[in-house]
Amino acid sequence: MAAARVDLDGKPIKAMTICMIGAGGFIGSHLCEKLMAETPHNVLALDVYNDKIKHLLEPAGSHPWSDRIQFHRLNIKQDSRLEGLIKMADLTINLAAICTPADYNTRPLDTIYSNFIDALPVVKYCSENSKRLIHFSTCEVYGKTIGSFLPKDSPLRQDPAYYVLKEDTSPCIFGSIEKQRWSYACAKQLIERLIYAEGAENGLEFTIVRPFNWIGPRMDFIPGIDGPSEGVPRVLACFSNNLLRREPLKLVDGGESQRTFVYIKDAIEAVMLMIENPARANGHIFNVGNPNNEVTVRQLGEMMTEVYSKVSGEPPLEVPTVDVSSKEFYGVGYDDSDKRIPDMTIINTQLGWDPKTSLWDLLESTLTYQHRTYAEAVKQAIAKPAAN
Ligand code: NAD
Ligand code: UDP
Repeated sequence: MAAARVDLDGKPIKAMTICMIGAGGFIGSHLCEKLMAETPHNVLALDVYNDKIKHLLEPAGSHPWSDRIQFHRLNIKQDSRLEGLIKMADLTINLAAICTPADYNTRPLDTIYSNFIDALPVVKYCSENSKRLIHFSTCEVYGKTIGSFLPKDSPLRQDPAYYVLKEDTSPCIFGSIEKQRWSYACAKQLIERLIYAEGAENGLEFTIVRPFNWIGPRMDFIPGIDGPSEGVPRVLACFSNNLLRREPLKLVDGGESQRTFVYIKDAIEAVMLMIENPARANGHIFNVGNPNNEVTVRQLGEMMTEVYSKVSGEPPLEVPTVDVSSKEFYGVGYDDSDKRIPDMTIINTQLGWDPKTSLWDLLESTLTYQHRTYAEAVKQAIAKPAAN
């Protein structure tokens, strides 16, 4: 008999039912995969789309986990089934959101509605029915670092006190109203505050996750292949698309912004610890990122070019990158986060979690997936207009 699964305090973990909203997205698909392969938990998977979890759902009844995952195609904006599904579950995980920077300044209303208004009933139903909630927020709630306001040559810019982002002490610094990128951050921050208030006043058991650039297979889409030709996904998919098409990578405003990237599979381990250790996770806000994987966007582009050449066997372009202005690339109202280093104290202390995978290794496995999944389709799409 397999050994009983135990939590971090040695107590047996009971099988639970999880209502996962946004289960068909990038993070949701990896979380469903992990829950099905390695745990006895049941998942009610809610989303408008299910392409990224089809391999777990079909053919019907054919997987060892088939009776533990149920897909419900619904839009949480308007669906009376939502409360019933939350009531059926022990835990709700809300991943649903518009979370692509190209949308923040071009669809600001949808962004605010999706990240605040549409999440309200989820919080309310959890609170009223005494159900636990894990809500996905974002590292973007921190906005810009204090250091970014110092003179360029100030030595204080090198002092971690001016840039490391801590859940319980860092301020949240957004740009002005017409910089509509911050509407996303602002909506996420208000829903965090509302959840926190539900905890304080009504005893809601909650955990808030602030992801710092989780990346890996199945993130977003490749324009013109499995998403709109004119669509602008997040940077991993933008650069993958350029590499697949043998076009130069576009560096927005010189590619000087800095990011820390964490491998999706490492990050999912952190979420699993939150799911299975409620006593340690409830009432906490967790940064989930990899402070060791920091690069500028330009360095990311250079590394992706090198890794892609290795995994595809194609030589890199002679001119691998090109500079574009943010106005040209995203339109007016775009602004950027300068630097994002997560403080790891709370997640280390509460859950003993640390990321493992280096940027090179995570890019190698991710770009191997991108090449295997898309190279042929891209080749055909490029050949088509010439054939017509
Ligand atoms: P994603 O876009 O791949 O997934 C979101 C899913 O939610 C999509 O499948 C979408 O169809 C679904 N959804 C959106 N609105 C819905 C609605 N009204 N009804 C039903 N389903 C709906 O994004 P992701 O990267 O998986 O992100 C998940 C969450 O994590 C989001 O809340 C996002 O803000 C947060 N986050 C992610 C990252 C990251 O690095 N990936 C960074 C910061 C924050
Ligand atoms: N970016 C870029 N070229 C692209 C796509 C994105 O230079 O083709 C930059 C973008 O301006 C930002 C960073 O890459 O500085 C990360 O963008 P992403 O969309 O992944 O999300 P963010 O981390 O800003 O939320």
